[in-house]
Amino acid sequence: QEDIFKKLVAHCKEYGYVFQSSEIYDGLGAVYDYGQYGVELKNNIKKYWWDSMVLLHENVVGLDSAIFMHPTIWKASGHVDAFNDPLIDNKDSKKRYRADVLIEEQLAKFEAKMDKEVAKAKKRFGDSFDEKQFRETNPRVLANQKKYDELHARFAKALNDNNLEELKQIIIDQEIVCPVSGTRNWTDVRQFNLMFATEMGSTADGALKVYLRPETAQGIFVNYLNVQKTGRMKIPFGIAQIGKAFRNEIVARQFIFRMREFEQMEMQFFVRPGTELDWFEKWKETRINWHRALGFGDENYRFHEHEKLAHYANAAVDVEYKFPFGFKEVEGIHSRTDFDLSQHEKYSGKKIRYFDPELNESYVPFVVETSIGVDRMFLQVISASYCEEQLEKDSRVVLKIPPVLAPVKLAVLPLVKKDGLPEKAREIIDDLKFDFNCQYDEKDSIGKRYRRQDAIGTPFCVTVDHQTTQDNTVTIRYRDTMEQERVAISEIGKIIGEQVSY
Ligand code: ATP
Repeated sequence: QEDIFKKLVAHCKEYGYVFQSSEIYDGLGAVYDYGQYGVELKNNIKKYWWDSMVLLHENVVGLDSAIFMHPTIWKASGHVDAFNDPLIDNKDSKKRYRADVLIEEQLAKFEAKMDKEVAKAKKRFGDSFDEKQFRETNPRVLANQKKYDELHARFAKALNDNNLEELKQIIIDQEIVCPVSGTRNWTDVRQFNLMFATEMGSTADGALKVYLRPETAQGIFVNYLNVQKTGRMKIPFGIAQIGKAFRNEIVARQFIFRMREFEQMEMQFFVRPGTELDWFEKWKETRINWHRALGFGDENYRFHEHEKLAHYANAAVDVEYKFPFGFKEVEGIHSRTDFDLSQHEKYSGKKIRYFDPELNESYVPFVVETSIGVDRMFLQVISASYCEEQLEKDSRVVLKIPPVLAPVKLAVLPLVKKDGLPEKAREIIDDLKFDFNCQYDEKDSIGKRYRRQDAIGTPFCVTVDHQTTQDNTVTIRYRDTMEQERVAISEIGKIIGEQVSY
């Protein structure tokens, strides 16, 4: 699985999806650039999210707030004091780790051991295999489950008590070694704030210390009144935003999974106090269905309850996807209570209330948030789509990206570079390019061109041959099945349209 991951990282680079930032200067840690296909996929993911949240919900509207905000916002939100990661150093390798991530990886090892037993048994017993019963009775699974449960309980308690010594003790007791030095020579655990700070204005005037926002949500909270009043919004309603966020992440591994500059798609849903947990359930359902609709297999998603609730939340769950390196968070759904709005009332001195005509009273609304990383979703799409297929004579690498998200929808390929075929191919593109991202390619043999489009993830290829000039038909080839059929040029738009619409 790790092997596959390395290959797909290499694939992303080779085919213009993702490049290391500042590569000619040897790169900048955990910062990435998106290439010609990457930017298209990213835009498609954003549109797929935006349309489902804003267009399909009458009571959800959009916003684009600035990255720079008044510094007191981050005091009010708790980020200045509490947006920390617990760090630990290995004295031999001088490498720095997140203590909580080291322990999570240990938990994942117990899970992996259990999964391995299950997979072995499945192979042995075939169809008659009852996984649930096996997990409840097999001694090796049970032993690992016990270790998992004990560690999980101890870890959750340490996090909730903010007990840094206990986190260190867990790492020692579990005999966790540094992946680089292989030793257990650890320092104490200490807190590290994740916000990037910079200065606004010249120092002579007295510069203002400002932060690069670590989440887009606060821009929504501080605009709550503006949007509610100008949009004449009635509770319950939501505000959605897509934008960059910045975190000085220390564990910056796994490619674009954890970056220092990334993008979030967040929606804050404002509700009447006391109804937030119902809305939390509704949004959980809506969001998991959004993920599942892409067809990557329901079994690859799960909900994960938080070990520790953030200071602002009374319920929280992650949507996890099974990446090649295990189940990991893609999206968080949080019931944030009235914490943020109340804090902004306190710090700004402005009333942030809603007058509820049905109750005939004013209150600070409660908030349910859905928050998903664009880049993590991108990695999920690539992970789920990357396939190596053995064919009769050779093999191919294909990105089976759902057509709605695919960067290029259609490649138009003239069989030869003469006899009017290139002109005919360009005519087809001119007709369709307002609706779909089309690509023209005449270089190399047709087989090679198909492989190139497979590797990019183009769901449809159309080949223009001599017959085309006579009867206006082409061969259309489908990426996933590699099947080909003869269709009229006038049909192409409809065939693609059916696959890419939602
Ligand atoms: P993690 O536990 O992985 O650090 P988090 O719980 O801090 O994530 P949230 O603050 O809930 O994450 O952010 C919401 C979403 O933003 C996450 O589900 C993830 O998709 C995305 N995200 C958060 N941090 C990063 C990052 N450093 N790089 C890329 N995406 C991120």
